[in-house]
Amino acid sequence: MKRFGLTFGARAVKSVPAIALPDDLLAQSCVACARQDASALVVDGLRHEYGDQGATLQDVSLCLHPGEILALVGPSGCGKTTTLRLIAGLERLQEGALRIGGMMAAAPGLHVPAENRNIGMMFQDYALFPHLTVAENVAFGLGRLDSTQRREQALEALADVGLAEFADRYPTTMSGGQQQRVALARALAPRPNVVLLDEPFSGLDAELRRSVRSDAIHLLKAAGAAALMVTHDPEEALFMAERIAVMRDGRIEQCDTPKALYDHPASPYVARFFSEVNEFAGTVRANLIRTPMGLVEAPGMADGAQALVMARPEHILVGEAALETGASFAGNVSFARWLGRTALIEVRLETGEAVFARISDKNWPGEGEAVEVALDPEHVHVFAGDRDAAPVIADMTKRDGANTSESLAFSG
Ligand code: ATP
Repeated sequence: MKRFGLTFGARAVKSVPAIALPDDLLAQSCVACARQDASALVVDGLRHEYGDQGATLQDVSLCLHPGEILALVGPSGCGKTTTLRLIAGLERLQEGALRIGGMMAAAPGLHVPAENRNIGMMFQDYALFPHLTVAENVAFGLGRLDSTQRREQALEALADVGLAEFADRYPTTMSGGQQQRVALARALAPRPNVVLLDEPFSGLDAELRRSVRSDAIHLLKAAGAAALMVTHDPEEALFMAERIAVMRDGRIEQCDTPKALYDHPASPYVARFFSEVNEFAGTVRANLIRTPMGLVEAPGMADGAQALVMARPEHILVGEAALETGASFAGNVSFARWLGRTALIEVRLETGEAVFARISDKNWPGEGEAVEVALDPEHVHVFAGDRDAAPVIADMTKRDGANTSESLAFSG
């Protein structure tokens, strides 16, 4: 077996110390919050339990900067909607604290009612009232104004989303995309500090979803409202959000920019969330992990410890590039597909292991061809532990590379 000479630098896990409420409220999961006490929204240490079925949320902390779009992503049942409902005031807070636009909205013994939180909401099914006209729907949340002002502000909000001429129609006479814009106009009409969007595009077909979500970005940015958007779709989160909070089992696993999440995942779970990834499990011996593609360094790990090496398909070097590393391995292409901008190939190594590589070169090797492959030493993630419960111990990832638009599921 050839020696693969990778050196890994240790990387500290982000953390900010908890500070006493209410004046120094900080979200512990986001370093940026330490410099952003003017956050549009600060969620600190939420814990929530429905009945006695155990904690649905545990220590959920995040912040939303003014004008920012943050996506809350995770699989079904991980607690995204519960987090949104607590922020909105639709659910009473049990533990933790919430500050919205500089105002304490919820803390032990404090519950500001939903209508006083200056929050706009948009739900998956739009929740438009069928018996009210479009203008009346948009005016619904403007209760404090007189009827003339409400109508004027509603028409203004409808004009902003390009639907002024639909003011006197009923929602049921409009397309899904138009209803979605009415719902957005209603959420933005009261000029809220924060807009909460719960799976806002899931009711639309794929083509409409693409155009509607870029419109939504422009409308949110024009309104200047900070937005917290729940979605289970990683691609949608990457497209829409400046930062993404990845949830798992009621906790925030990592909250960061899309690029940082992609390049520096804090766990195998986060690494897998945004794209396919090759995975090699191994046991540490003399600070090295043996993989089918050579030895990878694991400094500081005890002999006998379990470790997981992960490399995205675009970080598997193929052909000349692999040979240049001086640490390549021979294999045969067992599967190859051109996906539009890149090709995905499966290489069966001489040891029998399969490795997936993504190639942008139009001269990609076809099925049956012999190729050399190697790990790109700058883009390998090493995690301690087993497949599911591993904190990052090291990584050397440095470059751009998110590309979920051409995904093809596989198991590495
Ligand atoms: P999805 O993507 O499917 O909407 P989610 O991540 O938004 O899921 P939540 O709706 O927050 O998840 O639900 C988290 C957990 O809490 C689930 O196990 C759910 O069954 C449970 N749950 C949610 N609402 C209630 C409720 N009102 N009473 C009891 N359990 C609830």
